[in-house]
Amino acid sequence: MMLSTQTTDVLIIGGGVIGCSCAYFLSKAGMNVTILEQGELGGQASGAAAGLLAPLGPIPAPGTFADLILASFRQFPAFVAELEASSGIDVGYERTGALRVVRSGKRLTRLKQRFELWQSLGVRVEWMEGTEALKREPLLASDVCGAVYSPEESQVNAVQLVRALALSAQQAGAHIYPHAAVNEIMYSGTNVTGVRTTAGDLYACKQLIVTAGAWSARLLHPLNDILLPLRPIVGQMLALSQPEPALQHIIFGDTKYLLPRKREVLVGATKEDNGFAIQVTPQGIDKLHTTALRLMPSLSSQSIIRSWAGVRPGTPDKRPIIGPIPGWENLLVATGHNSSGIILSPITGQGITEYVTTGHLPDVLQTFGYERFNTPEFLSPSTPRPQLLMPDLQLIRLDHAPALLAFELENRAYFAASVPDRGDEFFAEFDTRYAQLLKYQAAGTDFLHVLVAERGEVVGRVNLIEVADGSAELGYRIAQKAAGQGLATAAVRKVCELAATEYGLTRLRARVKRDNPASRKVLEHNGFVAVGELTLNGKPAMSYICELR
Ligand SMILES: Cc1cc2nc3c(=O)[nH]c(=O)nc-3n(C[C@H](O)[C@H](O)[C@H](O)COP(=O)(O)OP(=O)(O)OC[C@H]3O[C@@H](n4cnc5c(N)ncnc54)[C@H](O)[C@@H]3O)c2cc1C
Repeated sequence: MMLSTQTTDVLIIGGGVIGCSCAYFLSKAGMNVTILEQGELGGQASGAAAGLLAPLGPIPAPGTFADLILASFRQFPAFVAELEASSGIDVGYERTGALRVVRSGKRLTRLKQRFELWQSLGVRVEWMEGTEALKREPLLASDVCGAVYSPEESQVNAVQLVRALALSAQQAGAHIYPHAAVNEIMYSGTNVTGVRTTAGDLYACKQLIVTAGAWSARLLHPLNDILLPLRPIVGQMLALSQPEPALQHIIFGDTKYLLPRKREVLVGATKEDNGFAIQVTPQGIDKLHTTALRLMPSLSSQSIIRSWAGVRPGTPDKRPIIGPIPGWENLLVATGHNSSGIILSPITGQGITEYVTTGHLPDVLQTFGYERFNTPEFLSPSTPRPQLLMPDLQLIRLDHAPALLAFELENRAYFAASVPDRGDEFFAEFDTRYAQLLKYQAAGTDFLHVLVAERGEVVGRVNLIEVADGSAELGYRIAQKAAGQGLATAAVRKVCELAATEYGLTRLRARVKRDNPASRKVLEHNGFVAVGELTLNGKPAMSYICELR
């Protein structure tokens, strides 16, 4: 069902820091810009980021990446001043200074080599013996035996930065739509003509920029098989309360970091290459906490205030992919910023704007194009293809049974963390139960759907049960590896449409535990309204109603 069509010069898919920075610079340059964001602005990697503006860590050697990250870093004072003036938002920019510490003689040599590299790049750095480092930051562990002090490394509040970019872009004329998930890019030959959202809205555009972070590959894949070499790299973080006296510097050590921010010390971050399971785990938190205490034993009396996770768009060479997609007339990409998207945000937005307005990328971005991956080796048939953009929603059939059983088995522990386990009997008697479900469906008392991905894999279920008097109860579950991609919201939306148009229903009910904010959001984004409280499996829960129109 098509609801509306809009036209824009430049359409940007993804409202993270990269999409918002592109929109900011493009709209300042007078372009007519629209951002479509499937969730909240900055709701993914950008909102999870620590906000370190610490370019030294990611620099392995002199070269084009060192030039890029240092050039972007050096823009921050002016960039932030301009943004704060236009938006009125304090983005929390602070020149905190950083200490990179080692606790064993073995690591000293490597740190000294890196110190010499950083010096050769013209960055202000100072070598410190352990005792000097302890004097500068008295909370450090007493076994720290060497450190590099870099007084210019800084921080910013990434959430506020995204807000300031978005607001400033809007003030310059950009249109920004959160909760607008793109599920199809339309094209004719080698020309992108527009996109379609899961709500059925159409946006026609002259230029398309894909800034969808870790999700960019699956958006682009349907376009003549474009393969972006992106991997989702999940990062977990936690915040401790500030000790007294407070931590003064950013501390890097043992592959983690501690970042003082007002009343908190942020500890980050894990790097997990396990798909899109964007979640905090006891193991992840334990790893971060243990490292924090090793670097700073006095933090042992500080409590963990909060923890969170996000997914970085990872590339094989840890460099971003910025520029046009070869062979396409009006398709650009700006993604793959790995662990440096916040620091690289100004230079990415400016570079994309220069390309859109002049047809040329600035020199500093010349080696970061997609071409470097457009090689026979990378494009070989053995390269894993991204999952389908939106798995197909189908009513259950007999031939879905093996894939559905595999889905339930693979995700059993994951589901059991939020809903009661189905029990061994369910799996032992699966065939009989499945036959019964098919009977209910044939009788019209249930409408049971599966989300079918490539090669017939089931990645989710959305059910309408107890159908009577124009009403039904909604339930859904999404595979762990497919979580965090807006699938549940899109699938529930689709089922609501079917309920109204195909199944003749006028009202849907749902129940969800209070401690399941993700599920509550899915309902609320689909027009469900909380109408009461109840107890579900011994836990406080809420009941919801959606009046279908
Ligand atoms: C724990 C953690 C800590 C980090 N710390 C730092 C740091 O200190 N400094 C630093 O420089 N970098 C840091 N990073 C990296 C940085 O966060 C990322 O590189 C950066 O946020 C990437 O920005 P992005 O806009 O490309 O991606 P995202 O912020 O993920 O934005 C992409 C957006 O696209 C949207 N989208 C996806 N598909 C669709 C669709 N079909 N339709 C519409 N919208 C869609 C998503 O919802 C998302 O909001 C950190 C990352 C993590 C995970």
